[in-house]
Amino acid sequence: MWAGSSTPYGVDYDILPSRYMAYNSSIPWSQRVNEVISWMTDEEKPINLAFLYFNEPDSQGHRDGTDDENTLQVIRESDARAGELMTKLKETGIYDSVNLLIVSDHGMQTVSNETIIDTTLMADTSQYNNSGGSPVYQIWPQDESVNVEELLAAFRKGSTDENRNFRVYKKEEMGFVNFTSNRRIAPLILLAQPGYAFEDVEDNLNAFGQYGVHGYDSRFPSMHAFFVARGPNFKKGYVSPSPISNLDLVPLISEIIGIPPPPNNGSLENISHLLNTDIETSEPTSGTSDSTEDPNLTTPTGSSAYSVAPVVSLILCSLVAYCLNFNG
Ligand SMILES: [Zn+2]
Repeated sequence: MWAGSSTPYGVDYDILPSRYMAYNSSIPWSQRVNEVISWMTDEEKPINLAFLYFNEPDSQGHRDGTDDENTLQVIRESDARAGELMTKLKETGIYDSVNLLIVSDHGMQTVSNETIIDTTLMADTSQYNNSGGSPVYQIWPQDESVNVEELLAAFRKGSTDENRNFRVYKKEEMGFVNFTSNRRIAPLILLAQPGYAFEDVEDNLNAFGQYGVHGYDSRFPSMHAFFVARGPNFKKGYVSPSPISNLDLVPLISEIIGIPPPPNNGSLENISHLLNTDIETSEPTSGTSDSTEDPNLTTPTGSSAYSVAPVVSLILCSLVAYCLNFNG
């Protein structure tokens, strides 16, 4: 179950998934896994796509930063959660019939009390409102009397004269992260460099003066998210030569479950190199078949690279999500 999965969607906001559980962070992981597997193995109406969500290591990563022992422990627990899911799928006999994608939506980087940028010293704070939070400030002129160019010049002077650890953009200059079109985007954007944050995080610093932040320019490796997939539709032992864009997950998942993709900004072409093209020729296995009868296991494409181990590299990831497609 996905956070927000109980919210109606669609043009008329009247569509719900066929099965869902209202998100409640206190529901134990094992209960979420058992519920989803029961939906997948339902004899009368099995689902063909499920999402599972867990809010760590994001919360802990914010609290103490990425290198703190508490954060490393929560990452180990996330690894164990992935292992528990795999074990349950194996016990149910559907592990090799399921396409399992483990993804996250961002990285994390630690800031300290020595890398805080005080933007309130750069321009007259009565002239603007800020609707953002570190590392992205959205600067809205207070009213029409404010000269936006002067405000821009004041922040640009701050970014060059006082410290060079944040950038100032006009809305129309934010195309590199597709952040230009929506009316909710402010005319001016302040974007901190990785490892830096604005004064709003001061109250969140832990006892060692540290805090975890995400939202930096997504091209920085520390913001890169996690992606690993295994199952009959995926090549075995394959390592993508380039980063995977989460935008391409919509066409990817649509392709796997055989539906036309809804309107989206991704491209199947970007990500189809992950797919096992032999899948068309092999019959999907029964959801209850013994794994030794799975024709996908006989595919001589090398050893599986999908152990629990890669999940350990979730170190900088957050919002670990599991997407399962059941080919049963
Ligand atoms: Zn977060």
